[in-house]
Amino acid sequence: KAKNPNEPEFIQAVTEVLTSIEPALAAHPEYEEAGLLERMVEPERVVMFRVPWVDDAGHVQVNRGYRVQYNSALGPYKGGVRFHPSVNLSIIKFLGFEQCFKNSLTTLPMGGGKGGADFDPKGKSDAEVMRFCQSFMTELSRHIGADTDVPAGDIGVGGREVGYMFGQYKRLRNEWTGVLTGKGLSFGGSLARTEATGYGLVYLVQELLAQKNDSFEGKTVCVSGAGNVAIYATEKAQQLGAKVVTMSDSTGWIHDPEGIKLDVVKQIKEVERARISEYAKRVPGSVYNDGRGVWSIPCDIALPCATQNELFIEDAKNLVNNGCKIVAEGANMPTTLDATEYLQQAGVAFFPGKASNAGGVATSGLEMSQNSERLSWSFDEVDAKLNGIMVNIFHASNDAANEVGAPGNYVVGANIAGFNKLANAMMAQGIV
Ligand code: NDP
Repeated sequence: KAKNPNEPEFIQAVTEVLTSIEPALAAHPEYEEAGLLERMVEPERVVMFRVPWVDDAGHVQVNRGYRVQYNSALGPYKGGVRFHPSVNLSIIKFLGFEQCFKNSLTTLPMGGGKGGADFDPKGKSDAEVMRFCQSFMTELSRHIGADTDVPAGDIGVGGREVGYMFGQYKRLRNEWTGVLTGKGLSFGGSLARTEATGYGLVYLVQELLAQKNDSFEGKTVCVSGAGNVAIYATEKAQQLGAKVVTMSDSTGWIHDPEGIKLDVVKQIKEVERARISEYAKRVPGSVYNDGRGVWSIPCDIALPCATQNELFIEDAKNLVNNGCKIVAEGANMPTTLDATEYLQQAGVAFFPGKASNAGGVATSGLEMSQNSERLSWSFDEVDAKLNGIMVNIFHASNDAANEVGAPGNYVVGANIAGFNKLANAMMAQGIV
């Protein structure tokens, strides 16, 4: 803490991992001598840079850009880029740290990294977003590469932004490589990447339910967020027979007791880039409320898919009182530490994001493979691989929890499963 003052999100993420891997550490005294944990929590490299651009009114704007190259033991650094006004070093470090374990869990050869800027794409014209992305990439391009560091999207960075960044990288380097994932389908993107995080989340929960001969059929699901992860988690849950009754954005949330009409949400969010409040104006019987409130609605399964620290202890109590049995994180660290503990103690099956939202980066890994092969796989092929990876992640986490005598504790299980592979690779590579 003394070394990283003013980094509460980073401390929160490290605390969760370090406490839950204690049983794995006890079996390996050699890790201490090798300074393994001290090296694991310290990023290999942090780059912070000025991003100057000119807005439509001709005014100069300056944002701060980041790339944290956390750990390359398992492969090139890999992790998204986030554009949101709340972005700071603590948030990018927490995301980069988590990414190392998540990428390890996918079993694909990817190290961990994360980046972003305190830029708010909301309310900006396409031309402004393009100029910002070009300026951001002008500096970032010095630090990344298909075999070095392969960024992707995250909050505020979707297909449009990845396209602009890819165009600028190619122009600067005069080379076409798979340096970014989440690209458009016409220039190296993978089918099913857009859907991957949300679909993957639901595949993992489907496997959890299958252990009890249960399924999504007839379940009521609360989803938060209305972005990429939330939309495709809703789509897959609905395809599997569930009724999703809530969604939200940073202004407010909607409740549709009849089940969310996803075509309306897609039109509002993906086409019009408008607020979720529009939904209630268009769908009779649905209600919009300002502020937070998704977790007050009774459900069997809760899928927080918006952002970090959006499910607090009082929300956890509401969920338990209302009979919720499963909470699986689509976002990164949406649940606070005390809320996580409360849910676990109340017997709720809780899946941490580093396991349950790993489908996005896993499919990014598949995009890298396709780019290297210079081939494109069909939607069904990628989707089947994604499903297989999520089923594996469920079992790896479940087995690791059982092995250390903590059955059903998927936080412990996911952290240990991710940690073991990373620790092994770092030990083999010497003190670097
Ligand atoms: P999007 O930008 O597509 O959507 C984010 C959603 O969350 C929006 O609805 C946004 O609302 C809402 N949101 C953002 N900040 C807040 C806030 N402070 N309070 C309430 N709502 C908020 O991002 P993604 O769907 O891609 O990402 C969502 C989460 O999933 C993030 O934690 C991300 O790190 C994680 N994730 C994403 C992956 C991916 O493949 N996209 C992969 C793995 C994890 P508004 O529009 O009002 O800002």
